[in-house]
Amino acid sequence: MKKQTALFPGSFDPITKGHQSIVERALPMFDKIIVAVGCNTAKHSVFSLDKRIEWIKQTFAKYDKVEVVTFDSLTVDFCQQVGAKYILRGLRNSSDFQYERNIARINQELAEDIETVFLMTKPDDAAISASLVREILSFGRDVSKFIPKEITISAEDFKK
Ligand code: ADP
Repeated sequence: MKKQTALFPGSFDPITKGHQSIVERALPMFDKIIVAVGCNTAKHSVFSLDKRIEWIKQTFAKYDKVEVVTFDSLTVDFCQQVGAKYILRGLRNSSDFQYERNIARINQELAEDIETVFLMTKPDDAAISASLVREILSFGRDVSKFIPKEITISAEDFKK
């Protein structure tokens, strides 16, 4: 059978329980999931690339099917480079949907053989966002409820 690879692109600044749940729920659907940390977008990250990668690797260490990489090209070009026919994205609410559908539409124009696959967030994860995690941390509070249990993040981890 043909091997199916999905790319899960994002900034993961930092990875949250929401991201983790999307990848874990998608695992049965694909032979390989590549978590791709974008490092050339307009978004300025708060955590260093090394930290973000390390946390994602720790989160998915038990899954042979999950790979973690960085990329600085257009998502569809990177998909082609690594042989991914699917882009995986998570949807929390209607604003995610409005934003994501435009990106998916444009990606379809750019590469019609690549499909975007959306998974709805589990209700418990719908309120979690990387930006909220950063804000809570900036006030010195514990964020362990919102991040994968495999990792620890503290205010010390903010980029110097
Ligand atoms: P980007 O920088 O491209 O917005 P993010 O790192 O914020 O990427 O998120 C990557 C993907 O994970 C996106 O599809 C986003 O919608 C999804 N996502 C973010 N937070 C959650 C969550 N709490 N539950 C499910 N999916 C989420």
